[in-house]
Amino acid sequence: MRLNAKQVAACTGGTILVEPLDARSLMTGVTWDSREVQDGWLYVALPGERVDGHDFVAAALRAGAAGALVMQAPDAPTQLLAREMGAAVIEVAATAAAITDLAREWRSHLHGRVIGVTGSTGKTTTKNLVRDVAAAGRSVVATAGNQNNELGVPRTLLAADPETEVVVVEMGMRGAGQLAELCDFVRPDWGLVTNVGESHIELLGSRDAIAAAKAELLEALPAGTGRAFVNGADGYAGVLAERARLAERGIPCVAFDGAGRPGDAAAPAARVWAEDVSLDAEGRPRFTLRAEGLTQAPVAEPCALSLRGLHNVSNACAAAAVGLALGLAPAQVAGALASSLPEAGRQEVIAARGGFTIVNDAYNANPDSMRASLATFCSLSVPGRRYAVLGDMGELGDFAAECHRGVGRAAAALPLDGLICVGELASLIAEGAEGAGMAPEKITRAAGVADVLGELDVLLEPGDAVLVKASHFMGLERVAEGLVS
Ligand code: ATP
Ligand code: MG
Repeated sequence: MRLNAKQVAACTGGTILVEPLDARSLMTGVTWDSREVQDGWLYVALPGERVDGHDFVAAALRAGAAGALVMQAPDAPTQLLAREMGAAVIEVAATAAAITDLAREWRSHLHGRVIGVTGSTGKTTTKNLVRDVAAAGRSVVATAGNQNNELGVPRTLLAADPETEVVVVEMGMRGAGQLAELCDFVRPDWGLVTNVGESHIELLGSRDAIAAAKAELLEALPAGTGRAFVNGADGYAGVLAERARLAERGIPCVAFDGAGRPGDAAAPAARVWAEDVSLDAEGRPRFTLRAEGLTQAPVAEPCALSLRGLHNVSNACAAAAVGLALGLAPAQVAGALASSLPEAGRQEVIAARGGFTIVNDAYNANPDSMRASLATFCSLSVPGRRYAVLGDMGELGDFAAECHRGVGRAAAALPLDGLICVGELASLIAEGAEGAGMAPEKITRAAGVADVLGELDVLLEPGDAVLVKASHFMGLERVAEGLVS
């Protein structure tokens, strides 16, 4: 961002308590973590549950902040410090809301194409693939990591320059209306929905309601210049296209599918899909990328991913669709897909001491990603046996029991040598697996991380592989860490 104190005060409805030394000087970045402050940035004091950002205004100024946005006037020494440093202090009613105001203002300075990415699963992965594909031929700013909420989304916009050609924004949502709220200031030009699945079903009640909530991204696209990218394989392409009235509003719909040519459900203007899909010995997909309607000649380009797992073929097709729509050559798209790497904690494959392999997927889990992860794990060729350590999945509400049992049934159908279920809900995974015919002696119920490590200590032999997956709050990355150290 590049805004001066007056512009900041104007768009946030704030009052300038301390005038900056130079009224024209631009603040060149924004953060609400005083440790991140760089010279010339704006520091925003957020009230927190444990710490209050107002306690760090002086630290931020000393670190070089050109301005501080606060909800109460700093004490006299801090105001004096601001004057000495030539920095501005601006008071607003609510600093959290002011961050959105700043993003809304800055959005109107951006000339590039803003692409919103949402969906039940694979948002971060697809956002990274879109980022890497777009970067093959355009300047790009994308969401850092998984910052997809009401703070992370503004932060992404504020990180872009007016000249940035493509801004890729991961947009998360937990309930109806949230994407619409984000879209109100993101004003996406293009929108991509990775899929409509079961995550957050607790809050929305049904998959149809989830689809309606995802459609909010597509409803926000501008008539004529907008473009929608939807999954042609999850059964919701038509629902999304209809709810967002894509056809009436002249917004072309691109359907992608990781498993074959998408059908006509969304009456897509273009299609991107994968053919001849196979996995190498490390579980990395290879396929022929096909596309119709995005380029003059149909595309048939060989692709190989660095990411593991069949589910990533769909994510890659989504990113390829965006890349081709941006006008990149198929070979550029394939090259970028090949070199795009996973984020830490997502299907990280670690060769550990003692000659065994750990797949650390403990970053997060929902029923869809649990099944995808198990299938990927079982596609790895390992010399020894395969053990899955699965923990509770959160945010499933009334659906929790059935979703956990369903994962258990899926596990029973796979070539696993052992299943260790950690936590109360995960014991229902064990129940589901046993009910579906998995031998009881292969199934263990564990209370916590120490239990799991003790169990694995007895079980593991060189050549064996372990998958670790659960919702973030379970902290199962400590199992992976325990096995590595
Ligand atoms: P969050 O809600 O935490 O932001 P996300 O939607 O960003 O999640 P990712 O972090 O990209 O999702 O992926 C999480 C996990 O979901 C991956 O490790 C993988 O196991 C699984 N996954 C990714 N893409 C898909 C997909 N298209 N279909 C099913 N599972 C997927
Ligand atoms: Mg994410």
